[in-house]
Amino acid sequence: MTKTRKVPTRTCVACRTASDKRQFIRVVRTPEGHVHVDPTGKANGRGAYLCAEAGCFETAAQRRRLDAALNVKLQDDDYNRLRREFEDALEPLKTTQGR
Ligand SMILES: [Zn+2]
Repeated sequence: MTKTRKVPTRTCVACRTASDKRQFIRVVRTPEGHVHVDPTGKANGRGAYLCAEAGCFETAAQRRRLDAALNVKLQDDDYNRLRREFEDALEPLKTTQGR
């Protein structure tokens, strides 16, 4: 086994912070073209990453960063739905912080 384990890093599409991918919540565009929050981080498709913070979602929503990151056209309704999914995804993270 290799000694140097490379930690995969991701960049938040809102604030551009790069970090360990576990710090982020993934939003995925499925091969069918649906966009949803992917709490497992394992769904098939093109992914965009946001810090596990509501503020970064809001920035992404206001600036339409997910459109660009996922190469899709999202409507306000989509962002509203994604906000709820994002908030749901935040809940378990809050309780496991400081593990
Ligand atoms: Zn961020």
